[in-house]
Order: sequence, then structure tokens, then C-alpha cells
Amino acid sequence: MSRFWNRRVRALHPYVPGEQPRLANLLKLNTNESPYGPSPKVLEAIRDAASDDLRLYPDPTAADLRDTIATRFGTTADRVFVGNGSDEVLAHAFRALFHDGAPVLFSDVTYGFYPVYCGLFEQPFRHIPLNDDFTINIDAYTGDCGGIAVANPNANTGIALPLDQIEALLKRHPDRTVIIDEAYVDFGAQSAIELTHRHDNLLVVQTLSKSYALAGLRVGFAIGSPELIEGLIRVKDSFNSYPLSRPAQAGAIAAIQDADWLADITARLVASRDRLVPQLQNLGFQVLPSCANFILVHHPEHKAGAIAAALRERAILVRHLSTPRIQDWLRISIGTDDACTRLTDVLRDILSSRS
Ligand code: PMP
Repeated sequence: MSRFWNRRVRALHPYVPGEQPRLANLLKLNTNESPYGPSPKVLEAIRDAASDDLRLYPDPTAADLRDTIATRFGTTADRVFVGNGSDEVLAHAFRALFHDGAPVLFSDVTYGFYPVYCGLFEQPFRHIPLNDDFTINIDAYTGDCGGIAVANPNANTGIALPLDQIEALLKRHPDRTVIIDEAYVDFGAQSAIELTHRHDNLLVVQTLSKSYALAGLRVGFAIGSPELIEGLIRVKDSFNSYPLSRPAQAGAIAAIQDADWLADITARLVASRDRLVPQLQNLGFQVLPSCANFILVHHPEHKAGAIAAALRERAILVRHLSTPRIQDWLRISIGTDDACTRLTDVLRDILSSRS
């Protein structure tokens, strides 16, 4: 604790360094990264962009990238915002579009950064408990609020919310921004982007970190009505007019244009997930129905923390989250089929030695 830190910073916690250790033969199934590489066209575009032009500032408006995203999703560039990872896009959205007179609403199991942003920007928030089956309880998102954030599929459960329920939420709160965070949408859920044309209070946020296998490039984007986008641009311009480097803009354009690569690596991941789930169920795990590149699992006879520690000793990292509602659950990112086999072999060993 430093006397130089202000009140807001004192309440913040550093990112757990254990999530990104550097060990040999480590199987990282803890941060939902893709086990596959990005499209070769992305690497080519980044190499081309890393030329003498690096001495020049990038396009602050990322016009070509926003055009590419608009074309891909059948919309126009004035409805597209880009940022340095969807974390930055979400931070700007919380800051620009949520009002602080009433609490921002999000569920008690969701992306961990939502309460952090609220704390940083001094916005009150209220956790809405999930239903008993871990689905989002849309009927409880009522009353005056500063805005609403929903991860869909939900972070850490992987369960998707149907579009008609999102539309009900948008209609119930026409004067408040509803953020739908679609970080994992490509793994089996339906995107709400089409609803942005009918609802000017909807901001859909996506990332290239998961399905496009580009967590290291740091590119995220939002699609919504021009007035929401204008709010985001005002905040962005007040902090950093050049959030995306030249290589990031070029690489992201190539990634979004290579739809075949995305479809291929996404289908492979979904197939691995569908093979892994029954194998874990055979080992006695309860597995929530996931539309994401991770699964949330619980073993009725073994503590989640003990399983995570035993896996770590065998160089496999999974995520044991501190969220109270899921504290006896583990989040496991889906790897290649070989990685899934290594995981199930080691788990079988651990469970039999502990029982
Ligand atoms: N939203 C959700 C639900 C996430 O799980 C993550 C990644 N952990 C993000 C947003 C941020 O991803 P990125 O900043 O890499 O785009």
C-alpha cells in the first residue's frame, strides 16, 4: 500500500501472476486461450505492417479495420468501435455509457472485471443471483439501474442466453445501455449483433482473443448505435488516440477476412469439447452445458481446490475461481484432442489415488 495511491487504486488487486507461469511442458487450460495458431494470413499481414512505416503513427480511427468489421457483420463503420482487447472496449463502455445514479446490474457469476470497472469508475453495482441451474435470471433485472452487462455465453459457466431473453431486457430498459459481452460467442451461441439495428441501447462487444486465436494481438470491438459508438470514441480520445498499433490493425483485418480459418479452428475446438464432456462425466464430474471454449466442472467427492493443486503438480493448469457461488467448481479451457487426453489420463490417476 503506497501513500501515493488514491482511494480507488487502494481497492484494486494486481492480476494473479500464477495464471501465466513459464514452465516447460506446461499444459495451460486456465485462461481460455486457443490451442491453435492464428491464420497464416494474419502473420503475413503483421510482417508486412512491421515495415519502415512503423515510424508513423497508426490510423487513430482504424478506418480500414472498422470497415472490415462492418462488412463482415452487415453493418456500417459508424456503428463499429475498436480497442486494445475487449477489456479496453468494456472499460470505455462502463465509463462512457453507464449512469452512476443507480446500480449497474450483472449476475453473481460473470466476468470478474465488471465489478472492477465499477469500482474504478465509482459506479454502484448489484449482483443478480443466477438461477439454481446456473442460467441467468432475466426476470430479476428490473427497476431503475445505471445499465446492464451480460456475458453471453456467460463467463465461467459457458451457458448461453437465448436472443428473445436479451430482446426482453432491451425493451424493459430502453433508456439504459445493455452490454452483451460476446467473448465466447463463436463456440456455439447466437450473436445479438442483428438486434443492434432495432435497439439503440444495445452494445455488443466481441474479441479476437478466443475464437480467432489472437489473444497476443489485443484487439476487441463493439457494435451498436452511432450514439453509443460516439460515447466510446469520446472516452477513447481522452485517454489514448492511438490504441491499436499498425501491426494490430493489419493483423485484425486479415483475421476477420479469413472466415474459413475461423470456421475450421472453431469447429475443431467444439468437436474436442463435445468429446471431452462425456469423458469427464465418466470420471464422475458434473459438467455445465457449455457454448464456450471452456467448461465448468464439479466433482461431488473431491474438492475443486485439491484437484486443481494436484493437476498443477502434474504441470496442468486449470482455473479455480474465488467466486462464492462456484467455489467448488473448476473452469477448464478446451485444448487439442491430445491435450484433452492428457487431462483425462492425469485426472483419472489423481481421482483414483485420492479415493
Ligand atoms: N469478456 C470476457 C467474458 C472474457 O472472459 C474476457 C477474457 N478473459 C474478456 C472479455 C477480455 O478479453 P480480451 O481483452 O482479451 O479481448
